[in-house]
Amino acid sequence: MKELKMCPITKCETGAKLIGVKIDNDIFDFLKENIVVDEDLFDVMTAISNPERRFRFSNVCLESGCKHWQGESCGCLRKVLKDIENLSLSKDTTLPQCSIRERCRWFHQEGRRACDICPLLAIIDKDMIETS
Ligand code: SF4
Ligand code: SF4
Repeated sequence: MKELKMCPITKCETGAKLIGVKIDNDIFDFLKENIVVDEDLFDVMTAISNPERRFRFSNVCLESGCKHWQGESCGCLRKVLKDIENLSLSKDTTLPQCSIRERCRWFHQEGRRACDICPLLAIIDKDMIETS
């Protein structure tokens, strides 16, 4: 059976996974273990205005059900990589810890380049969270 890939930047909704928290300098830090958003956590999160700006959520990649899907891959990631090609990224060769890497659509598509930019994305393009 085909393994479903995970989208690294989705809306807060029940069934999604909480995978990261914004830390200093507006950069997301990724959790070692993700936390499933159940109804209680959803209520806590949505009591905050725009929780997606402070927390990072992941859910199954919708592929052709997502407006960003192009052919066989995520066009959203390609657009971000193009938009920030002149941004100087960290020279740190260590990948950030991430609980969804094995199934991450972006890592599968672009490898560590995706992980280099991923922690910065909410401040680069907040519309990225609109995947439906
Ligand atoms: S195609 Fe859509 S759901 Fe899949 S990784 Fe890209 S933005 Fe996320
Ligand atoms: S791009 Fe990298 S850091 Fe971001 S969610 Fe995927 S594996 Fe994790």
